[in-house]
Amino acid sequence: MSATESGALPETVEIYDTTLRDGAQLEGISLTVDDKLRIAEQLDRLGVHYIEGGWPGANPKDVEFFQRAATELDLEHSKLVAFGSTRRVGGDVEDDVTLGNLLDAGTDVVCIVGKCSAYHVTEALRTGKDEGVAMVADSVRFLKSHGRTVFFDAEHFFDGYADDPEFSLRVLTGAAEAGADCLVLCDTNGGTLPGEVTEIMQATCKKLPEAEIGIHTHNDAGMGVANSVVAVEHGAVQVQGTFNGYGERCGNANLCGVIPNLQLKLGCSWNGQDNLGDLTEFSRFLSETANVYHDHRQAYVGESAFAHKGGVHIDAMYKSPSSYEHCDPAVVGNQRRYLLSEQSGGATVAGKLEDAKLDHLIPGIDKRHPSVMDLLQRVKQLEHEVERDEGLAGAGGRLDVHAVIALAALLQLLPLVRRELVQA
Ligand SMILES: [Zn+2]
Repeated sequence: MSATESGALPETVEIYDTTLRDGAQLEGISLTVDDKLRIAEQLDRLGVHYIEGGWPGANPKDVEFFQRAATELDLEHSKLVAFGSTRRVGGDVEDDVTLGNLLDAGTDVVCIVGKCSAYHVTEALRTGKDEGVAMVADSVRFLKSHGRTVFFDAEHFFDGYADDPEFSLRVLTGAAEAGADCLVLCDTNGGTLPGEVTEIMQATCKKLPEAEIGIHTHNDAGMGVANSVVAVEHGAVQVQGTFNGYGERCGNANLCGVIPNLQLKLGCSWNGQDNLGDLTEFSRFLSETANVYHDHRQAYVGESAFAHKGGVHIDAMYKSPSSYEHCDPAVVGNQRRYLLSEQSGGATVAGKLEDAKLDHLIPGIDKRHPSVMDLLQRVKQLEHEVERDEGLAGAGGRLDVHAVIALAALLQLLPLVRRELVQA
């Protein structure tokens, strides 16, 4: 744990990846055991602190994963985590199947989820509040007695706190007293706003100043990354999330956004901070392995994250890259791109000539040069004609149009250049 005072921005944050468990619940993906092992290897290379491998016993795939992981995975930087839940209502930890499976998984670290909302305890579990607290505390104590590092995922913590703060804090306190190593506050339904996270983080850190607090958010209100960042600003030392934001419904907090925000904007260190330049490559590797389209508009790692289209923007970018970028794309392994389109200006075309190393053929060429203006008009006319004649619309179609236009424009460069040379 960082020596930072409870409730203050920590110097170091642990990144806990749950792509292989929560992320696998994304609609439309199915990871094989081989996929999971390959992803785990790359997560280790990237340097996340923890890799949640799955829920042992929940399905044959996760059982096989933990069996094979024990011999096939040689993790250098990350620790593998087995996930499960607390003991059942009225049950005994000693013969609880889920807790037994967690031990059988053979990992040093386990994470258990338990209900932290009075409503869910009384309505979903149909039991009393005291039993709700005991289920959590007994399970943590049992796993600790078997020498495990135990994280407690406090399910529905934020919603539960809003309804009955006393109960939600009682469950957390029970987990802490039983020896939980990190109390992870979950925004399970993903509907909490950053202001509420701030308020509840402050109250929780005040109540449990000695505890390590973590955060696990979902993106249902579009706040997954924001809520994780805000929680860290108020003392969370562990962030649970998934890469590319995979997960059920609208997904989990996207670690492709969380990690650079923490490292670049807040100055927090994490295990893999020297590998931040591999983030974009990892994000694309994950999409390919999961066989899912890579979202080109993802912050930091998307193909469009540093793509400039407006002529005025590109003109300014050539003068100073910071004019329309919040960070250097190279820092996260991404690339700056200037798009040629009907919205381009002379600077884009002149820049493309420069990129193609053709600019030196036309002495004194710049964004106002007649050849550049001529080419620019052709690009605009061509885009108009292609769209009109092909009737293309929508993001996919437009991308194709841009590819066609870029190609056509480049093909037109050579005759233009030749004409310039003849005239010179
Ligand atoms: Zn979750």
